[in-house]
Amino acid sequence: MPGFRAHIIGSSIVGAGYGAAAWYLGGMPPVTAALGAGLCAASGLLPDLDGGEGMPVQETVGFAAAIVPMLMIQRFQQWGLPIEGMILAAAAIYAVVRFGLTWLLENYSKHRGILHSVPAAAITGQLAFLAFVSAEPLHRYFIAGAVVLGFLSHLVLDEIWAVRQGLFGPKVKKSFGTALKFAGPEIWPNLVAYGIVVALGVIAASDAHWTERMASYRQHMEHSARLYPQAYQPQYQPPQQQYQQQPYQFRR
Ligand SMILES: [Zn+2]
Repeated sequence: MPGFRAHIIGSSIVGAGYGAAAWYLGGMPPVTAALGAGLCAASGLLPDLDGGEGMPVQETVGFAAAIVPMLMIQRFQQWGLPIEGMILAAAAIYAVVRFGLTWLLENYSKHRGILHSVPAAAITGQLAFLAFVSAEPLHRYFIAGAVVLGFLSHLVLDEIWAVRQGLFGPKVKKSFGTALKFAGPEIWPNLVAYGIVVALGVIAASDAHWTERMASYRQHMEHSARLYPQAYQPQYQPPQQQYQQQPYQFRR
């Protein structure tokens, strides 16, 4: 089973390739591409939060708790929160992720369970999509895609590790097929996971629809304002103060 080091290296390579491709080929702004690459690298650690080998669980949960509120800054702005409200919301989200997720992991997860599966990758991507709002719809899909890609890279790496080149051709370990899977052996976790996938899918789709409509509305308004500037002038305009350069008056 690949440990923490193999996973962080693997997902970092995938993330760097993903970011570089988006930057060079897709014309993505370099900061957005870099954020996607970083999130892909970090997301490659998430499946082993269920107690994978050599996994610094506390560290990783703390890191996620810090990153999630920062991803949501634009969302806070969309909600019209003042800066004080943003700080409070960020602190609340930090606490929920830091302690809520730890509690869930300690009580309800088991290694190579449903957290280590394709539906879990979908849930993580949907959550990233809902957290990260951008004026450019493509950037949202790119960021959510980065998280899914990092998650999947972990599962694929686990499967590759299960096939080792032995002395007489490839050998398949017992763990083969337990990482990249669509459902676990137990029924209830599967039902819950797929229920969450569907619910988040509906929420994310309606959110994307609304956000993109608002963005196109704003673009339309800006375009109109450029075409007909006099129609979009504010009613009251403060008088322009004339600052004239006057020579200093010295008392004589
Ligand atoms: Zn794993």
